[in-house]
Amino acid sequence: MFRKEVLNFKIYETMKGDHRIWLDKNESPFDLPPELKDKMFHELKTIEFNRYPDISALPFREKLAEHLGLDVSNIVVGNGSDQLIDCILDLFVGDQVVIHTPTFGMYTFYAKKKGLELVDIPLDEGYDLPCLDSYGDHVKVIFICSPNTPTGNMIGRDSIVDVLEKGHPVVLDEAYIDYARESNMGLVEEYDNLIILRTFSKAYGLAAMRIGYAVARPSVIQQLSKIVSPFIINKISMKMAEMMLAQDELIRERVTFVKNQRDKLISEFSAYAYPSDTNFVMLDLDAYDYLLERGIVVRRLEGRLKGKIRVTVGTESENREVTAALKDYLDTKGC
Ligand SMILES: *Cc1c(COP(=O)(O)O)cnc(C)c1O
Repeated sequence: MFRKEVLNFKIYETMKGDHRIWLDKNESPFDLPPELKDKMFHELKTIEFNRYPDISALPFREKLAEHLGLDVSNIVVGNGSDQLIDCILDLFVGDQVVIHTPTFGMYTFYAKKKGLELVDIPLDEGYDLPCLDSYGDHVKVIFICSPNTPTGNMIGRDSIVDVLEKGHPVVLDEAYIDYARESNMGLVEEYDNLIILRTFSKAYGLAAMRIGYAVARPSVIQQLSKIVSPFIINKISMKMAEMMLAQDELIRERVTFVKNQRDKLISEFSAYAYPSDTNFVMLDLDAYDYLLERGIVVRRLEGRLKGKIRVTVGTESENREVTAALKDYLDTKGC
């Protein structure tokens, strides 16, 4: 009775438990400032809870478009950008979903759920895109994550353009773009086979509210909009995201703080750290268990990255603790 894809599926789990310091999910270390929470709770009173939200989140998309300097016809919003990954896999013809590992796990999750064929073309030694003459004739969509997780680096713009030139649909996931040097959003004007994914879950600190969006040419958005569930974004999430869009300065300050802390972490462990354009650092230190015993949760990496960890930049005191613990780890290892 159950599809084999479902029977074979492994539940996606993250670490749970009573630990002190959580640096495993690349969340923002900052909750909303109390004044903003107060304002939010006040705004909540104006919501008509018995009425559905706008069917396509139009007023919210208008504000987002203005913020990004785009038109509403360039944007579709989803309940987290994860939900848009799911929808995009229903958008195009073709059987093969191309991923470049090591990368974000959700591309695999949604492709497997639909029983689609996954084609992994691993990133090269520098974690950049490999150079290919052709991706073949059966490609549905190619996922590129830049800056990439869990490695932290940007993918070269030239290699992204090379892939776009092949003409297949390309999803460029820019979840970490606020921490990076430059975005590739400008490429949307040139390429109608490009969809860029963004989220409010990282730099905007709204992981709890589940809001993401896709940016593409109107001809693409028009089709994608048809298959995103109606009424997908709830009124509370939209209010919160609108409020954060008006907090440019706060976001900028926080992003600057995180970038400085990240660079400090990288320089403290320069022999083990990889370059990062994100709010996390990949370290060539097999210190997962050591940190966990000290109440610090990071991400343990696997496969090709076995023996490495990914550490999210936290608050100043959290970063101080993880730095001290990692130094102790190196001391005990006699490094
Ligand atoms: C965190 C993250 C997302 C965000 O997902 P949401 O569903 O919007 O919370 C998307 N892509 C990558 C690569 C991420 O790390």
